[in-house]
Amino acid sequence: MTNQFETNAIRTQTERTQFSEHSTPLYLTSSFVFDDAEDMRASFAEEKQKNLYSRFSNPNTSEFVEKLVQMEKAEVGYAFATGMAAVFSSFGALLNAGDHIVACRSVFGSTHSLFTKYFPKWNIETSYFKVDEPESIEGLIQPNTKILYAETPTNPAVDVIDLALLGEIAKKHNLLLLIDNCFASPYLQNPIDFGADLVIHSATKLIDGQGRVLGGAVVGNADLIREIYLFSRNTGPAMSPFNAWVLSKSLETLAVRVDRHCENALQVAKFLEDHPKVTTVKYPFLESHPQYEIAKRQMRLGGNIVAFQIEGGVEAGRKFLNAIRMCSLSANLGDSRTIVTHPASTTHSKLSISDRNEVGITDGLVRCSVGLESIKDILFDLNQALNA
Ligand SMILES: *Cc1c(COP(=O)(O)O)cnc(C)c1O
Repeated sequence: MTNQFETNAIRTQTERTQFSEHSTPLYLTSSFVFDDAEDMRASFAEEKQKNLYSRFSNPNTSEFVEKLVQMEKAEVGYAFATGMAAVFSSFGALLNAGDHIVACRSVFGSTHSLFTKYFPKWNIETSYFKVDEPESIEGLIQPNTKILYAETPTNPAVDVIDLALLGEIAKKHNLLLLIDNCFASPYLQNPIDFGADLVIHSATKLIDGQGRVLGGAVVGNADLIREIYLFSRNTGPAMSPFNAWVLSKSLETLAVRVDRHCENALQVAKFLEDHPKVTTVKYPFLESHPQYEIAKRQMRLGGNIVAFQIEGGVEAGRKFLNAIRMCSLSANLGDSRTIVTHPASTTHSKLSISDRNEVGITDGLVRCSVGLESIKDILFDLNQALNA
């Protein structure tokens, strides 16, 4: 295989049947058959690499994982039913009671719930650093700290965290570095280049790209993935073959889609910067972004999420959403359809105001997942809603 991202995404085909089909068929089968007793024994003993049961592996999930492994320059991986199954199973497999996590304060809502509501049940505590205070990380590390965890760019405030710095700290303190790379996608950023041990994806977002299926994956170091695989084949969060088939197909077009997403998002960000009703705009590839230099170092392009602040607080945010005509009001992101959300009144409404402010969710903050419609139509809709 070459190093060409697009070529691998399209040309990687791990299975072909006796019918010589050009594109990979769907292997909707829960289990697999063996030639004889010896074949079955050897397969179960892992002396042969054979599919046994689709909770363990399936040709469709293996192909999807193989593509992702190549894109992220990882050793191996495992695919999950959802991004959260991937997040939970990684922690579940690698942590013991009494272990400690250091994580960025701005993480996906359900990941935050794992840290605050569920992991304490197993005596696993988490300490948090703020996105703009990475210098505080080393002070949070304890003798029982095992994992350093972050997302970048963050949700929904689109802050950028220095992956090279995280890699250095993890190495120095012998921590496992886990990066949720969902907002960047494997096309824009490869955390393993900066020292990450494992890269987690919600495939539901840019990887699917059309808001149809759920999925997740973890790729990285082979020994760690082995632990995660064994945990998962027993606990059962596997990706369905159908979703894997859809997502492997989606990866074929990831590069071209994400290129256009980023082109549209940069135009949206520049348009908003000049709009009188907008007080601030955050987009990693705008020079005004506080971590612009870091973003340029670690990302190919700026991604498809733009966060902006409307003058007038919560009420102005709600008014803006009500005036939107074409864009969707939806909780998803990374879709071909442009989506706007108002985190303060929806996804993050349960947080106290001070907690919201700490992760950059001000009352007038709007998150826009810029899609693939004509840029003229996207700008027209945002403009008329701002002026309404
Ligand atoms: C959506 C998302 C997840 C969870 O993925 P699901 O597929 O919805 O379970 C995790 N991390 C980030 C950054 C996300 O955006």
